Amino acid sequence: MSDYDYDLFVIGAGSGGVRAARVSAAHGAKVAIAEEYRVGGTCVIRGCVPKKLLIYGAHFAEDLKDARRFGWNVPDCDFEWPVLRDNVLADVDRLNKAYTHTLESHDVEVILERATVSGPNEVTLASGRTISAGRILIATGARPHVPSCPGHELGITSNEVFHLEALPKRVLIAGAGYIANEFAGIFNELGTKVTLINRSDVILRGYDESIRDRLLQISMTKGIDFRFHAEFRGITKNADGSLKVEMTEHEPIDVDCVMFATGRVPNTDGLGLSDVGVELDEKGAVKVDAYSKSNIDSIYAVGDVTNRMQLTPVAIREGQAFADTVFGDTPRTVDYDSVPSAVFSHPPMAGVGLTEGQARMKFGSIKVYTSDFRAMKNVLADRNERALYKMICDAETGKVIGLHMIGPDAPEILQAAAVAVKAGLTKQAFDDTVALHPSMAEELVLMK
Ligand code: NDP
Repeated sequence: MSDYDYDLFVIGAGSGGVRAARVSAAHGAKVAIAEEYRVGGTCVIRGCVPKKLLIYGAHFAEDLKDARRFGWNVPDCDFEWPVLRDNVLADVDRLNKAYTHTLESHDVEVILERATVSGPNEVTLASGRTISAGRILIATGARPHVPSCPGHELGITSNEVFHLEALPKRVLIAGAGYIANEFAGIFNELGTKVTLINRSDVILRGYDESIRDRLLQISMTKGIDFRFHAEFRGITKNADGSLKVEMTEHEPIDVDCVMFATGRVPNTDGLGLSDVGVELDEKGAVKVDAYSKSNIDSIYAVGDVTNRMQLTPVAIREGQAFADTVFGDTPRTVDYDSVPSAVFSHPPMAGVGLTEGQARMKFGSIKVYTSDFRAMKNVLADRNERALYKMICDAETGKVIGLHMIGPDAPEILQAAAVAVKAGLTKQAFDDTVALHPSMAEELVLMK
């Protein structure tokens, strides 16, 4: 029998925490999990899931337009934001219940309170109760970073955007990363005038140059305004309730909503970690080893709070590996090589492995193959929007070391192709595979 109240106490019921708690319990551990907001975490409650549903909702704008070219008599359609918003939020409620049920059915005790670390083997709940645990897992995720400028409190972040009372007529989005480009697409499709501003002149830093250039070009054609080298000077409220945004290098702009999408920071403030000697990095992330263990033997961390790779499936793998290692007697680490990712912009983009720039730096001699094409559906729809696929190979071995694409269904197509890249296949292996015609994915085996 353990001397502790629990074998494992997890703080944060998001993707990583829930997986770790459930699997640890299945391995026989006595587990409790504390959550201060809602079980499910960022991905389920205010991230990937509701965002993807909004993407589907927004895309109907184009589909309804295109349908006319395919013979459908589509009358002018109105869009009702409250209907989409409430249906999405209802689905979030459903998932929140499903996650809670999964935990409870695995005998994990769910404690809906904020918990902080008060010792290497002790947590304190907001109610004042202290609990002892053999191991403590920090899975508190990250929160939106908001640059400090006068009036920043007048803006919203991805936390609030799903709850907007009304769709703004004009929105200014700050940042040019994942969230900024995804919401620029959503708002633009739904009829909002979008201006995206960024401090540098680069969108989606880290993605392949040609692919992000294509997104920029398509987004501008769709009517999204981009302003670069623009740093916030301040936001003020106009007499009519709208917001005036002042920035460097550009004229001020009046909008109805300002949304910050300027990165996310690890959620470690006020958690008590430094007081018990847990080392944090300069961004406040918990420093961990390959087994997700901090410098304190009983304290571990998984997911965005460690700032290794801020992606849901990665947090889930980290949670699984932690549970198998600590309670399943099967030491496991996570392989961060060739992790595919996608940006659900309009159109979406996806990639795996090295970008052309990274590959040139690492390998020196590489071969690049591309396919620049207009999807069949876009041709008939008279939509002048081209897809771009790009394959990067080691010139010596022919091994595919990077694969990047932008175009309809790019994330769906890339997930399958990522298996081949992860398996270390060559360009020849792709070419040896007969094309599946007519499809967009066939371009993968026809690249020149
Ligand atoms: P990103 O890191 O993708 O982009 C941040 C953007 O904000 C960049 O354009 C950056 O500019 C700018 N920025 C950063 N700090 C400041 C600052 N102090 N002042 C002004 N601008 C700033 O962050 P997101 O918020 O979009 O998303 C956070 C993370 O969440 C992503 O990195 C990703 O890991 C994850 N995510 C994944 C999604 C997916 O898988 N589809 C969807 C949404 C989020 P610069 O380029 O100059 O540094």
